[in-house]
Order: sequence, then structure tokens, then C-alpha cells
Amino acid sequence: MRRVRNGNLHALWRWGAGATRGSSPGPATLVRHAATSTVSDGPSFDRDVLRTSVAIVGGGPTGVTLSLLLSSFGVPNVVVERKTRLTDHPQAHFINTRTMEVFRQLGGLADGVRRKSPPLREWSNFRYCESVLGHTFGEIDHFEDYAAGPNASLSPSEVVHLSQNRLLPMMMRELEASPHSRFLAGREFVSLEQVEGGVRLGTSDGLGGSGAIEAAYVVGCDGARSPVRGAAGIGMQGDPNMQSIMNIHFESPALARALKSEGREAMLYFVYNPKVVGVIVAHSIDDGDFVAQIPFFPPLEKAEAYTADRCQAILANAIGRDVGATVLGVRPWNMSALVADTFRSGRVFLAGDAAHLFPPAGGFGMNTGIQDAHNLAWRLAYALGGSARPSILDGYSRERRKVAVKNTCLSVANFDETVKVARAFGLDPGLAKGLMGALSPASGIPGLRQPTETLAESILSLGKLQTSPWSPLRPLQRLYLDGLLTQERSLRLLYPEEDIGFCYEDPDVDIGGGDFRGWSKTRRRTKFSPRVKVGSRFPHLQVSWWRRETGPPCVYSTIDLVAEHKRSFLILVPGSSGRAGEVRDTLASLHEEVSFAVTTAFVNFGADSVDPRPGELFVEADWSKLEFDVGIEADKVLAVVVRPDGHVAAILKDPFRLTPYEVRTKLTDIGLAPTNTKRRSVSTAS
Ligand SMILES: Cc1cc2nc3c(=O)[nH]c(=O)nc-3n(C[C@H](O)[C@H](O)[C@H](O)COP(=O)(O)OP(=O)(O)OC[C@H]3O[C@@H](n4cnc5c(N)ncnc54)[C@H](O)[C@@H]3O)c2cc1C
Repeated sequence: MRRVRNGNLHALWRWGAGATRGSSPGPATLVRHAATSTVSDGPSFDRDVLRTSVAIVGGGPTGVTLSLLLSSFGVPNVVVERKTRLTDHPQAHFINTRTMEVFRQLGGLADGVRRKSPPLREWSNFRYCESVLGHTFGEIDHFEDYAAGPNASLSPSEVVHLSQNRLLPMMMRELEASPHSRFLAGREFVSLEQVEGGVRLGTSDGLGGSGAIEAAYVVGCDGARSPVRGAAGIGMQGDPNMQSIMNIHFESPALARALKSEGREAMLYFVYNPKVVGVIVAHSIDDGDFVAQIPFFPPLEKAEAYTADRCQAILANAIGRDVGATVLGVRPWNMSALVADTFRSGRVFLAGDAAHLFPPAGGFGMNTGIQDAHNLAWRLAYALGGSARPSILDGYSRERRKVAVKNTCLSVANFDETVKVARAFGLDPGLAKGLMGALSPASGIPGLRQPTETLAESILSLGKLQTSPWSPLRPLQRLYLDGLLTQERSLRLLYPEEDIGFCYEDPDVDIGGGDFRGWSKTRRRTKFSPRVKVGSRFPHLQVSWWRRETGPPCVYSTIDLVAEHKRSFLILVPGSSGRAGEVRDTLASLHEEVSFAVTTAFVNFGADSVDPRPGELFVEADWSKLEFDVGIEADKVLAVVVRPDGHVAAILKDPFRLTPYEVRTKLTDIGLAPTNTKRRSVSTAS
């Protein structure tokens, strides 16, 4: 077999950090992990292969996050990316609270991302208008209640607006500093074989060279078309084409200046006029960086028809003044509502767009992928480290698929909200899509076998005429639109409950037949009160904590406390129980028996009331601020067990007596049963 070449291709990956470290076996050398079977325990392999613990296919936001998180656990991993350079196309841009909490764990990423994000006043609004610089029908400020500081009581992090093409280079720089990550640019995944104890991937460098990678697990983070998903034979349910969109990426410093001087800054401009209907996304007003998203109807409309002149005409009509714009790129893409049947098949996992695709309404696409990676990374680390049974991996597909289904339902409902506004102007994207479908040669309607693009264009123009200010329906349209905007029935930006309140133990949503419209649309709560509930993220509280060994307290969020101790489960023991001694004895005996590491944090006990022991944490926090799940009285809680990803694994409470048996049984339920009686550490560092 030919040795895989890293060569010059990597130099083209402008930020392709790991790629330049090609000659060192480093993290790509398979580490023999205790207890679990890995490829090194499987069949013997020839020497011309790259060996690692986890192979990640796809170097988009999901794949790079997974690589960074695995590296933070000390798990060697290799990212295989077919492209040789990062895209300049902005794509997704809204980064939600939970994603920012994940980024807090990744070096300086969260701080860097927040610094790069434009100031809030530039993107807190959505504007509904005739054109970006023309008449405004209405605008919505999504941050009206945010004056005291975004999410201050809910999270130490805040949402930001930063385009994917600016975010990814920052993530790549973190990857460069990650000792256990290796990035192979210009290497395409082409085949997959599940062998005993591992997987074998075939790759191609596009220049006739091929290579092989062997890993204990592979994760397909390879986007919408996911060759990994195809190779694993996993299907998807839902609607593969809700709408096609033509993204026109353009630069216009003059537009940026006008927006600023006229106080018209917004994140999204929904434009309705007889010439153009579409959305202008202001990716960065400072840099004059925008994308126009224009509904597009293939196969009747051809991508090639979006010539430079046509794009200029569209932009002039959408902007409403001839300020000048430079078109940087034109890319069609499909808006879908699809979820994979499963996110796991044996040693193959799916994450990100490979596992789920939603309309971008609400900004959940990239965020859900990054959070998939967060759920999977610790499981892989624990399974590879031998500190848990391999069944710890089972929960991934069940938990994340549930979130993906709910986010798809929510995004579809959001998309329908935007359609409502279009309908206020007499526009019906569904009808337009149906008409275009009927006109397409594939429809087989006699007499319409060779419809001209002109016919399609005429029909679309006729539809858009209803948005004319001279339309006799204009007063009625305005009335309906005002109703939508004032009654908050239009698209929202903030979804705190779905952002940080998702619960892995919530009942499944039935999507029989892929119907994502089946889920209740009545869930439009803008206020959210977190609860301590099994399956939910342990809420943010400001805490100060110390160890006997480390001395003076540090002030943190519970989110950071968990992240810092992620190599063990965190057991929070509230002082209100008054049973520290009993809890401690039980945990001590548990330590002797179980295979996973735990860190005990005594909350509000004070070092005087509990004689500090090495390794234990002492935490001061306003525990009374916590709301527990329905039916759980806070003062009856003896301990809360928190997983390494910050979700509650178990709440131990009266009237059951806290026994090692009870604790073990609860932890067995979540895949942490002892594999034998010897305790091992979770560390997988090479
Ligand atoms: C053109 C376009 C425009 C978009 N615009 C928007 C938008 O305006 N707003 C919005 O919210 N979302 C948008 N999205 C969606 C958003 O970008 C995705 O949700 C997000 O990128 C998902 O991240 P990911 O890492 O899961 O997948 P991706 O970002 O798709 O990354 C997958 C990676 O896998 C690589 N890959 C694929 N096959 C192979 C292979 N065989 N071997 C090796 N590598 C492979 C790809 O090159 C790619 O780098 C857009 C998507 C596209 C394609």
C-alpha cells in the first residue's frame, strides 16, 4: 500500500495547523487503552497505515469541535478533510449560549469568539422592509430584556453573532495547539470497513494517492451528503428539499456606512418588493460583509442564470439604492428537514449535518452539531480509557437524536413563521415551489415538457407584484403584518429553553413518516427557569470553590466547575442535607468498588464542619436559588451526580437510604457500572 502523502496540499489549507505536523507519528499513533478492546487488540495490520483512537471525517465546525474536546481528554484523534482550503462563504452565523459554554472549555476560544463578534446593537434586530435602505414595515429587537446583561442569571456565557468562515479559522488555531489532534487536509474519505475491535478507513488524496486509517471509532462529521452515513447504510427521514436558496455573498462598504449613519443596523433584513423577495444577512457591518438569500427554483431556474449582471440587479433592488456592491460568490444550497434513523452503527457515529439538517430559521444547525460533539467526546474518552463499559456509548444516539428531532420541529415551525410574513404580502413560497414543480419537465404535464425559464420567471414576477406599494391590498397586508410583529408571532432569535434547557430524559417526539410538523407549535416560551432534573444541564450558579491543597477560593460558574473536573463525575453534596459524614462514607466505600472516578464537592459546608480530605472540593454557592424537578424537595436532596458534559446523571435523595448499592444501581443505569472491582482513572493521555 502506498504511504499517504501529506505533502504540499496541506500548505494550501491556510490555517491547517495539524497538517503541517505530518511527519510526526504523534497523536496518530494508536494508544493501547486499558480494558476496552481497541484496534491494537484486534487483527494485525500492515505498517503503512495511520493508527489513531478516533478518526473524524470532516473538518467543519462539528468535526473540529470534536477533535478539540477529545484532545482535552487526552484522546488521540485524526481529522480527515477533503478540502484543501477553508471556504470564504459565511454560512451559519448565530452561536447560541450552550455552544459558547462548550467553547469556554476550549482554551481561549470563547473569549476570542466574543471579541470578534460585532457589538450587540448591530445585530439585535430583525427588520421587515421594502428594501434594506428603503421603507421599513417593522422591526423587532430580540434583546429588549437583555439590558442587564445577556443571560446573566442563566449562564456565564452569552450568545454571539459570528460567521462560520470567521469562526472556523479561530477553531483551527486552537487545534494547532492541541497536542492530541491531527488534521489531514486534502484527504477524502472513500471507504469504510468495520473490523473486529475497530474500523478501517480508505482515503484518497485526489492526486491518485490512497491511504488507510485504522481507529477504534470513526465519527462522520462530513456534512449534509455524509459519505460516512452512506457507507454505514444509515437512512434519513423527512423532507430533503423544503426550499432551495441561492446565497449571493457580497461586500459593500457603502451599504455598511449608510446602515450605520441611518441607524438601520440589523442582523436580518426581510425584503419584500415586486423585484426581489429574500433575506439579507448582515454578517459583519463593520467589514461590509453580507449575504443575500434568494429563493431559487431548480430545475426550472438554473444556477448559471445567476450571472454577475443578474446578481447586481438583485442586490440593487434588495438594497434599494445604488450604493455599489461587489459579488464575492454565488452558491445554491438546499434547505431540508432531515434526521438520520440512528446516529450510531457499531463503531461508526454521526454528528452535525451528517446526522441532521434543519432550515436555518432559529440558528440551530451548526449549534446542534457542536453540541453533538460535546455529548460524544466524553463518552468516547471514558470508553477508550476503560473507566466505563462500552455501553456508555449507547446513550449518544438516543439522547442527541431526540434533541435533533425537536430542533428540526422547532426550525420547521420557525420557517413557517417566516412564511406567514410572506403570506401577509400575498406570497406563498409553498405555492411557488408547487407551481415550479408542476412546470418542470419531470412533472410530465402535457404541453409543459419544454417550459421556458422565461415562463417561470414571469410567474414568480407576477407573485412578487403583490408586494407593490400600489397594491390595493396594501392596507390589509399592513394590518396583518403589524399583528404578526406586535404579537410576537414572527421569527424569534432567542430560544433559551431549547438552547440550554433541553433534557435528555424528556419523552421522545414521534416523527413517524418524517413529519416534523407534528410536534406542538405552542411552545413559544421566551422565559426559561432551569431546573435540576435528570438529563438536563446542571444550572449555572456562581460558585467559589477551593481544595485543601490549593488554598484560596476561585470564583466560577458551576458550568466551569463541572468542565474542570470532567475526567470524573462530579458529586455535589449540599450542606442542607446535614449528612456530609454519611454521604462521604458511602462515597468512600463506593470508590473502592467502582471503576470510574468521582470528585466530591461539598456545597456550603465550610472546611470546619467537614474535615477536608485530599481531592475533595469545597464550594460556596447560593444553593437555595436552584429549583429541582417537580416532586423533589430541595432539602431532601443528598447529592446530585453530574456527568462530564454537565448534564445531571442522578439525584440521590430520601426516603431511600444512600447506600453504595443504590448509588451503583443509579450509575449502572447510565452505563457506568463497574467493569471489575479495580478502580481506574479516566485519563487516556498518551
Ligand atoms: C452553501 C451553504 C450555505 C449555508 N448557509 C447557511 C446559512 O446561511 N445559515 C445557516 O444557519 N446555515 C447555513 N448552512 C448550514 C451550516 O453551514 C451547517 O449547519 C454547518 O456547516 C454544519 O457543520 P458540520 O461541521 O456538521 O458540517 P459541514 O460544515 O458541512 O462540514 C463537513 C465537512 O466534511 C467535509 N467532507 C465531506 N465529505 C468528505 C469526505 N468524503 N472526506 C473528507 N471530508 C469530507 C466537507 O468538505 C466539510 O468541510 C449552509 C450550508 C451550506 C453548504
